Amino acid sequence: MSKIDDFDGYTPTWCPGCGDWGIGIAIKSALIKSNLTPSKAMIIFGIGCSGNMNDFLNAYAMHSLHGRSLPNAIGAKIAQHSATVLVIVGDGDCYGEGGNHFIHACRGNHDMTVVVHDNGVYGLTTGQVAPTADKGYKSKSTPSGIIEVPINPLALAISQGATFVAQGFAGDINHATTLIQRAMEHKGFSLVNILQPCVTFNKVNTYQYYLSRVYKLGEDHSPTDKRAALEKAMEAEIEKFPLGVLYQKSRPVFTDSIPQLASTTLLQKSRFTRIDELLADFV
Ligand code: SF4
Ligand code: MG
Repeated sequence: MSKIDDFDGYTPTWCPGCGDWGIGIAIKSALIKSNLTPSKAMIIFGIGCSGNMNDFLNAYAMHSLHGRSLPNAIGAKIAQHSATVLVIVGDGDCYGEGGNHFIHACRGNHDMTVVVHDNGVYGLTTGQVAPTADKGYKSKSTPSGIIEVPINPLALAISQGATFVAQGFAGDINHATTLIQRAMEHKGFSLVNILQPCVTFNKVNTYQYYLSRVYKLGEDHSPTDKRAALEKAMEAEIEKFPLGVLYQKSRPVFTDSIPQLASTTLLQKSRFTRIDELLADFV
């Protein structure tokens, strides 16, 4: 079994107190509890403070372009569908720049786990407003307050076909660890949206703000009840934030529906050893 330091990369450069520290520990802990080693997990990072974890976490990883972590992850999964694929992104990257990819990844039920650091801002570029910020949120890019209403990531994922939708809080590392582990165990597109205070640029959605508004889903919530899950997701509109698995459903994953992948992975198919011959066709 691997140890937490096996996943250590360079020392993180996150601001002291940033929620990313807690999420980083939760991700490493979940990888260990899932019996994965750095060479067994394929991790695709987005751009941003969360994406910088590409340097801080030792794994078989790729730092992708703005908003393009999901298509890269989908490509990696189709090429080697036996691999565990994890995507680590921010809210601006996943729901803003990559919002179209997010919707279609949900529809396809691509078998991967997406951990979103949801802080309402583009932290790495010094705090411009991101899609989950509340209407009226003032930032450098919206000095008079943002005009648009916020994206509801949980409702969006549930309604567009994701088969595992959960929410965690960066201030509760043990709970977030469990959610990420359960998301990786689930076969299908799994979203773990983690409420993450950006202590430097977001002075609204602080630890105190969330501590008075988050609550854990109880035994009375049935994750298989889509309507109940959507109702829980919509509580964001009254500034209540349920933590736990809102929705879970079993549905065939994308690669299971491709007959060419039934016997082996694309990577193992022999034609990939003859890439020079294929390239010769284009000379
Ligand atoms: Fe965290 Fe915000 Fe600092 Fe980025 S800018 S490391 S999100 S506190
Ligand atoms: Mg962000």
